[in-house]
Amino acid sequence: MSRQITLFQTYFCLVLTGASDKHEFQAETRKLLDIVARSLYSDKEVFIRELISNCSDSLEKLRYLQMSTSELSDTDKDTPLEIHIAVDEEKKTFTIQDTGVGMTKEELISNLGTIAKSGSTDFLQQLGENEGAVNKNIIGQFGVGFYSTFMVSEKVDVYTRSSKPDSIGYSWHSDGLGTYNISEAEGVERGTKITLHLKGDCYDFAKEDIIKDVIKKYSNFVGVPIYLNGKKV
Ligand code: ADP
Ligand code: MG
Repeated sequence: MSRQITLFQTYFCLVLTGASDKHEFQAETRKLLDIVARSLYSDKEVFIRELISNCSDSLEKLRYLQMSTSELSDTDKDTPLEIHIAVDEEKKTFTIQDTGVGMTKEELISNLGTIAKSGSTDFLQQLGENEGAVNKNIIGQFGVGFYSTFMVSEKVDVYTRSSKPDSIGYSWHSDGLGTYNISEAEGVERGTKITLHLKGDCYDFAKEDIIKDVIKKYSNFVGVPIYLNGKKV
C-alpha cells in the first residue's frame, strides 16, 4: 500500500525540462473537440467511463507485453498494474493514473492529436449525415474517448512514460481549443497520468462520494484494482 501511495505522490514532484513544443490538433480533431465542448450532452460523467477504459486497455497491453517479450525496462518490472483516481475539491481537479504501457512522444502526437480511430470517425460521419444535430445520445452512443474530457475541463494535463526501454517522460497540456503543448518531463512513472482542471459547472466531479458511485458503475469490466484517493473502490 505504501508503495502505491509513493508511486502516486511522485507525480506531484514533476520537474519540467526542455522547451515546450506547440502543436495544432488535426482539423478533424478540432472539429470534434469543438462539438464535444459545446455539446448539451447531459450525461457528462461518461468521460470517467472513457478514461477508465483507456487505463484498462493500456494495462492489458502491458500485461500482454510482460508475458510475451522482454522488451520492458527492468526498473519498471515490479510496478503493480493498477488504476489510481484522485479528486481534489479545493483544486477542482480529477486525476486518473495507470501503470500501463504509457506513450512515447510520437504516440502522444498520433494518439491524442489526431483521430485515427473508428469511434470518432463514425461519430463525425453520423454527425455529417444529421446536419450537425448534436443530440443527447450521440456522444454516449459513439464514445468519443479521450476527447470527452473536454466536456468537463477547461484544461487537461497528461504525463506519460512509455514502457519501452529507455523511454523518457513527457507532459502534454491543452485547453482543447486548437493547440496542445508537449514538453519533456522528469520524474514520470511508467504509464499515464491525466489531470482534468474542471469547468465551473462540473465541480461535482471533484467530490469523492459522487465519483465513487460513478467508478462502481463503470468498473465491472476492469481486471485491475481501482483506488480512489488511496482507498480501494
Ligand atoms: P480509443 O480508446 O477508442 O482508441 P481514445 O480517444 O479513448 O480512443 O484514446 C485514443 C488513444 O490514445 C488510444 O487508442 C491510446 O493509444 C491512447 N491513450 C489514451 N489513454 C491512454 C492511456 N491511459 N495509456 C496509454 N495510451 C492511452
Ligand atoms: Mg478509449
